[in-house]
Amino acid sequence: MPVEPPVTSPARLADAYAVLTEAPTRPIAGGTDLMVALTGELGEPPARILDLWRLDELRGIAVDGDAVTIGALTTYTEIRRSSVCREHLPVLVEAAATIGAAQIQNRGTLGGNIANASPAGDTLPVLLAADASFVLGSGRGERTVAARDFWPAYRRTALAPDELLLRIRIPLMAGREMRFRKVGTRRAQSISKVVLAVGWRDGRLGTPLQAPSPWTDVRLALGSVAATPIRAAATEAVLEGRAPTPETADLAAETLAGELQPIDDVRSTAEYRRLVAARVLHRVIREAGGW
Ligand SMILES: Cc1cc2nc3c(=O)[nH]c(=O)nc-3n(C[C@H](O)[C@H](O)[C@H](O)COP(=O)(O)OP(=O)(O)OC[C@H]3O[C@@H](n4cnc5c(N)ncnc54)[C@H](O)[C@@H]3O)c2cc1C
Repeated sequence: MPVEPPVTSPARLADAYAVLTEAPTRPIAGGTDLMVALTGELGEPPARILDLWRLDELRGIAVDGDAVTIGALTTYTEIRRSSVCREHLPVLVEAAATIGAAQIQNRGTLGGNIANASPAGDTLPVLLAADASFVLGSGRGERTVAARDFWPAYRRTALAPDELLLRIRIPLMAGREMRFRKVGTRRAQSISKVVLAVGWRDGRLGTPLQAPSPWTDVRLALGSVAATPIRAAATEAVLEGRAPTPETADLAAETLAGELQPIDDVRSTAEYRRLVAARVLHRVIREAGGW
């Protein structure tokens, strides 16, 4: 029988930081990832647990100047219901709606998805493509880490053992368009085989009105195709400054298929992931181009 680790549930952030400095302690938010690890079947279970659920500082969704900030404890259900997210980040709402089913969406948090660092985490490509950054806190103060620097290796994060993820900051960008696509075995309760998010701005300046306008500030991010969620830099470079025409779609899809180096695993072969990612991108470009 596994031994149940002691759980501390502070209501103040300062008390939470103090617990984290005493001895190795795993934070728990919604528990939808961590509870699975408590049986010990997936490795050493945590010796001590810090329950974050009462920390109000880690809650709330707001427009803060030129960004949307989302508390780490925000659940997928809260994201789906948030008027701020629906207006400014519909792509995150769309991603939240694909995660697990209602029970997981009611309990699982955005911060948990980020800190869990699974390469298949569905919100992670959205956050990469949106140029999100993460505010981390500890007894030593706060610091901000860009999403592109947050997952350095498989299941690793930039969090120090005594740090918590406090909130997510997503800059607002006038005229930004974003799309999200997830490919899994089913429509619900499935781990992604390929997950893709793309963002761009309409660079209409100087384009004849009837022609599709070129994309600028292109961000293309993918999950489940590498050890970490990644940006596809070579494909971004192909898309930058080009309009979403059939030629662009062909070239971008070909570049992406060449750029990705996925792995074979129980869910998919590398070849399947490469092909599907390229086809999904092709279709997104086609839909944006209206052809
Ligand atoms: C049936 C089922 C279906 C699922 N479906 C999907 C899916 O479709 N897509 C998907 O992406 N995921 C899915 N998941 C995984 C999981 O639900 C998500 O990753 C969820 O967002 C985790 O959030 P949580 O609050 O439950 O995290 P927890 O389990 O509480 O924590 C996860 C990890 O993050 C750390 N952590 C949590 N919050 C913080 C914080 N604020 N600061 C520092 N560290 C922190 C914990 O220590 C732990 O290591 C599924 C899980 C289950 C059980």
